[in-house]
Amino acid sequence: MRRMATTGTFELLRTAGLAEIDPDVADLIERELERQRTHIELIASENFTWPSVLEAVGSVPTNKYAEGYPGARYYGGCEVVDEIETLAIERAKALFGAEHANVQPNAGSATNMAVYHACLEPGDPILAMRLDHGGHLTHGSKVNFSGRNYTVSGYGVDRETGLVDFDEVRRLAGEERPKLIVCGGSAYPRVIEADRFREIADEVGALLLCDMAHFAGLVAAGVHPSPVPHCDFVTSTAHKTLAGPRSGFILCREKHARAVDRAIFPGLQGGPLLHTIAAKATCFRIAASEPFRAYATQIRTNADALAESLVAGGLDLLTGGTDTHLVQLDLRRSDWTGKDAEDRLSEIGITANRNTVPYDERPPTVASGVRLGTPAVTMRGFDEDDCREVGEIIAAALADGADPPALRARAAALCERRPLYPGFRGFPAYES
Ligand SMILES: *Cc1c(COP(=O)(O)O)cnc(C)c1O
Repeated sequence: MRRMATTGTFELLRTAGLAEIDPDVADLIERELERQRTHIELIASENFTWPSVLEAVGSVPTNKYAEGYPGARYYGGCEVVDEIETLAIERAKALFGAEHANVQPNAGSATNMAVYHACLEPGDPILAMRLDHGGHLTHGSKVNFSGRNYTVSGYGVDRETGLVDFDEVRRLAGEERPKLIVCGGSAYPRVIEADRFREIADEVGALLLCDMAHFAGLVAAGVHPSPVPHCDFVTSTAHKTLAGPRSGFILCREKHARAVDRAIFPGLQGGPLLHTIAAKATCFRIAASEPFRAYATQIRTNADALAESLVAGGLDLLTGGTDTHLVQLDLRRSDWTGKDAEDRLSEIGITANRNTVPYDERPPTVASGVRLGTPAVTMRGFDEDDCREVGEIIAAALADGADPPALRARAAALCERRPLYPGFRGFPAYES
């Protein structure tokens, strides 16, 4: 512990910034920034958000209580935050061509909880992608509220192709008669074909939810087909490919608007995080711009370059490649487990996470795959040559006779060439 600065006067507390008041936390934040700067971030669900978004997240609407919705709050003094939330809603609708948007969810998980709450009763049947085939915890895992509260059946991918097995989806939909079908996931490297899920949903009279948490940024930029025209509900995070603040939002058809809004408040949350909603508004503005389209296009180009170099280095990928930002290493033909590979990559300065592959015989804590993604490295300026170098470093790290110190130096050199947040210390500076 460094010197305790908090022994100053009340006046000091009211006027000084973090570095002065709490050097312990300021130090830790600076260390975390240093970690982000000096490691190659390949966790597919992470990104480095914009400085403008960081400023909004650190801003004074955090002080405001505003339970309810714009124009219908349970608190006074909401005239300005009403404008903030309305701006975020209008921008979300315009960006994705949606009839209705709710921008209050505090996280991606809350978006799915709210949609279930809006259209299902406890015990109702859902059909969703199995977690071990690339789905998400909130799509019906036994250890999650979704699996405990609803009757879930899970579809998977074809053993040979690794693609969603639509014959199985259709068969399960016919047998289980789900009230809601969920598409989208967190470890599926190919396009989510919401139009094909729609056909099946219509055949059995089910509602359709697409969870685009991972690929929303690609949809915003037009480099992944939009699920919005085909779905009753679309849920998303703002902080993955969309590059915004940590949080979620829901899009839906007008006829479900009231049910969705009531599911979030008063169903699930209290007062919304207005500072984060301000940051979402900024994120949506940026995502509608030409530079964002170029960024998302580069995420895709980089993912292809990474995938090609991994394959050239002798590694297997699920489905052989990617249509998105996400690449899944399949280590079953090698001597590596997902966990050991994750540890080796960590040792050389590359951050990624182990992930089961479909039909994995190892438990999720060990797993036989590693999930990789390009949103974060693309944000710090990596191009396709850099991503090919990353692929070569990974292949060398997992090859016989690897030389970790040499590979660590190559990874560090890439980070030095593509600086992250130059001139920033990790938090907005308060100036009294
Ligand atoms: C990340 C993710 C979520 C959950 O988001 P949190 O903000 O971590 O709660 C939900 N669904 C999918 C498909 C995701 O990838």
